Amino acid sequence: MKTKLSASKALVDDLVAGSRILAEHQVLDAYGHISARSDRRPGRFIMSRSLAPALVTAADLMELDADSEPLPGDKRKGFLERYIHGEIYRARPEVMAVVHSHSPSVIPFGATKTKLRPIYHMGSFLWSGAPVFDIRKVREENDLLIRDNPLGKALAGTLGKCNCVLMRGHGMTVIGDSVPEAVFRAIYTEMNARMQLQATQLEGPIDFLSDEEGRRSTASNRGTIERPWELWKKSALRRK
Ligand SMILES: [Zn+2]
Repeated sequence: MKTKLSASKALVDDLVAGSRILAEHQVLDAYGHISARSDRRPGRFIMSRSLAPALVTAADLMELDADSEPLPGDKRKGFLERYIHGEIYRARPEVMAVVHSHSPSVIPFGATKTKLRPIYHMGSFLWSGAPVFDIRKVREENDLLIRDNPLGKALAGTLGKCNCVLMRGHGMTVIGDSVPEAVFRAIYTEMNARMQLQATQLEGPIDFLSDEEGRRSTASNRGTIERPWELWKKSALRRK
């Protein structure tokens, strides 16, 4: 069934576009998801029902409460890992959008001691660090998935004040102050990881961005985000 969302049309449009864009960029495949905090009821958030992101339309969006549960009467199946989103929104009131992916180049950084660090300005938001969440430390018997509130809360705790958290043997989650920013960060986390891996094959050590460069570049990128967003949106929505 379809319920009325407490979100503006602009936010709904951004979420649909964001899902399609992340699928087109192969950051999301049949798995992974994007959400946004409701711009009309900040204690709730909006995300698709359990569906491959390339197929998401406005009619597939659901409103979830602060505990990541659907509103009464909405019987559609939500994503198993919706608790990632709900617990980050609870812990970080300024966060407006969240992307969770199984982005392939990021996986090695969650499974080794090598830290994911900003190798170029598009990945500058990684200056804040990309801590690794190890689900075993919270729950010995697990299937890697963040399938309830306590696991979501523990993940949000590892994220702390950072922009990105890696998940051992699983993937990563990024936050943003808008849907375009979260999409941008998910795409460039994958690219930064790929380039950092490539750089390890050349003569080192790798000269990463300093914290100060990272901070300044993050602010600059925020000011130009409309440009890639318009391009990506047009390209992703052209496909049915
Ligand atoms: Zn996942």
